[in-house]
Amino acid sequence: MALVNTHFLNLENNYLFADIAKKVNAFRVVHPKADVISLGIGDVTRPLCTAVIEAMRRATEEMATEQGFHGYGPEQGYDFLREAILKNDFRSRGVRLDIDEIFINDGAKSDTGNFQELLHWDNFIGVTDPIYPVYIDSNVMIGRCGNYRNDRWTNVRYMPITAENGFVPELPKGRPVDVIYLCYPNNPTGTVLTKPELRKWVNYALKNDALILFDAAYQAYIRDPQIPHSIYEIRGARKCAVEFRSYSKTAGFTGMRCGYTVVPKEVTVATFEGERIPLNQLWLRRQCTKFNGASYVSQRAAEAIYTEEGKQQVQETIDYYMQNALRMRSVLERLGYECYGGENAPYIWMRTPDGMSSWQFFEALLYGANVVCTPGVGFGPSGEGYVRFTAFGSHEKTEEALERIDKWTQSH
Ligand SMILES: *Cc1c(COP(=O)(O)O)cnc(C)c1O
Repeated sequence: MALVNTHFLNLENNYLFADIAKKVNAFRVVHPKADVISLGIGDVTRPLCTAVIEAMRRATEEMATEQGFHGYGPEQGYDFLREAILKNDFRSRGVRLDIDEIFINDGAKSDTGNFQELLHWDNFIGVTDPIYPVYIDSNVMIGRCGNYRNDRWTNVRYMPITAENGFVPELPKGRPVDVIYLCYPNNPTGTVLTKPELRKWVNYALKNDALILFDAAYQAYIRDPQIPHSIYEIRGARKCAVEFRSYSKTAGFTGMRCGYTVVPKEVTVATFEGERIPLNQLWLRRQCTKFNGASYVSQRAAEAIYTEEGKQQVQETIDYYMQNALRMRSVLERLGYECYGGENAPYIWMRTPDGMSSWQFFEALLYGANVVCTPGVGFGPSGEGYVRFTAFGSHEKTEEALERIDKWTQSH
């Protein structure tokens, strides 16, 4: 008899974006002519830049020749891309890493979800709340989170990030956390941590022999020069942190699929006997068994982001989105809404007015202004009473959505 992994059955079967789609569809049935603008899902909309397109074209031409054909590549990725990463993403910020500490992947979702496989099932995980749902769900799948009661997993430490604490998570008290997920700049709140704030977490991890899994998928949106782009800008982090990067938001690669994970050789975890096991070797072993690399064409495309033209073109797109963020924040604040984020991240996190719940506001905005946002509570219990707006739309759609929100707000 083939038995199911019952941990999967513990997952909540509601998926936030499926719920949103259902509600939007219900609205469309009643209002078939309404033109709904979505500032909801966090997917990019601008086309790939020409440097990337040219690189893909060249790589495709190569693949059409006998000499230039590439079959299976190295599981950890091609050196041309890993070298470009070391030079541009790290050395330029004073961080020295080795080439075999970089693992190219097909995007950060897979690795942020898969990395927990290397860890014993009864590690105690801590997450900020609200949070990108992948971190918890992937841990639920192997039975690490306990039971779901009152909107929380019993075996997960939730560390609230709300307006009350300035969106800075407090260090856990009581039972120490073994594995900490941090995502900065943060999805969904759009907020960031300063170096001293991040340093506290690195020091906590070093002191408690904990592991930090640091998701830096939005680092390209940081504008404030004081804000760290990488956790390795903090001394000691290479002993206790793994970092995930993605070209999805950086360069519009959501449909291309390429990113990378940094696993420094100094990061180790313990056996019960007290032996120290380097995660770099385990991850290499895991990847060679379960992953056959990102495609040659997408790695060449990613490499092009680091050329002079590539850097400039990618920056133009980021600036384009950040203009939306700026506009959204200023209009929403003028209308009297309490807003956070949007300064170093493409998300605006807004408190719902008059104590409305996230879903109440979502529906009111949908029916009143025909604009879709994301209910904050979908990212965790502390997201209740907030909604998220994304800056990934076109200028035109964003402006129109803001005009509608303006009219709707003034009219009631
Ligand atoms: C979008 C996003 C990613 C990137 O996922 P990919 O698989 O690289 O497309 C990773 N982490 C967070 C928090 C994200 O929002």
